Amino acid sequence: NDHLIFVRDVTRLHLLEQMRKDFVANASHELKTPLTVIKGYVETLDMFKDNLPKSMQKGIVNMAEQSVRMEQLIEDLLLLSRLESDDKREENQWHRVSDIVESILKTTTAIMTDQHKLATYISEDARIYGSYKELYSAFSNLIVNAVKYSPDGGEINIKWESSELNGIFSVKDQGLGIDPRHVPRLTERFFRVDKGRGSKTGGTGLGLAIVKHVLLHHEAKLQIRSLPGTGSTFSCHFPASRVRKDAVSQS
Ligand code: ADP
Repeated sequence: NDHLIFVRDVTRLHLLEQMRKDFVANASHELKTPLTVIKGYVETLDMFKDNLPKSMQKGIVNMAEQSVRMEQLIEDLLLLSRLESDDKREENQWHRVSDIVESILKTTTAIMTDQHKLATYISEDARIYGSYKELYSAFSNLIVNAVKYSPDGGEINIKWESSELNGIFSVKDQGLGIDPRHVPRLTERFFRVDKGRGSKTGGTGLGLAIVKHVLLHHEAKLQIRSLPGTGSTFSCHFPASRVRKDAVSQS
């Protein structure tokens, strides 16, 4: 009967979805080893490239850049697979929001130019309950995007606000902005507003998909406000149960 067919179809869909997830996880894992070998040789070549003809030097630089890009892609795919599988959940703990952000900023300042102005408004006593690793990747993707998509610089504000009701982590930039018709698709895997722009900025198109999954794990919601040519604000709204204010001396 109809009901039985429906149940069978749902089970089949579930199986197919599991197969897709397993395939992505296995393929990404298998790509890691050969890539590590290639990267190792490229790094060696890079050290001796000064004595080689210019055209070969260019090729080596290109290989080095592309292998870093591929490594990032594999890391992002593996992270997404882990986020999608329910059995490998990270441990939840209380973390100081400013610790997570400070640690991210140590690496992101490298991609900023003199035109970028960074301002953080995060109280020392703000605490969040969750997985450090997952929150780090979500916040890091938002901060890196704010820099990447502000090619002409501008102010980037990183803020934490909390109330009785929730805690909001937001990243605001004065960059390119996003056309409203693209906003609903931003968190889809590999979705990019402008593919050409994406390949120049070195993104994988997986960043916001990662953000979405991390927020799901933390019962949080993503809000995107953006205006082309003016800039964007990405805000993560965490429920009150995951937010706390501690006396600074307790940490
Ligand atoms: P990518 O690796 O391409 O940055 P993301 O999933 O992080 O992938 O973002 C998807 C797309 O959303 C980007 O390619 C870009 O077009 C757009 N986007 C994300 N963040 C911003 C931002 N702060 N300003 C403008 N566009 C953005």
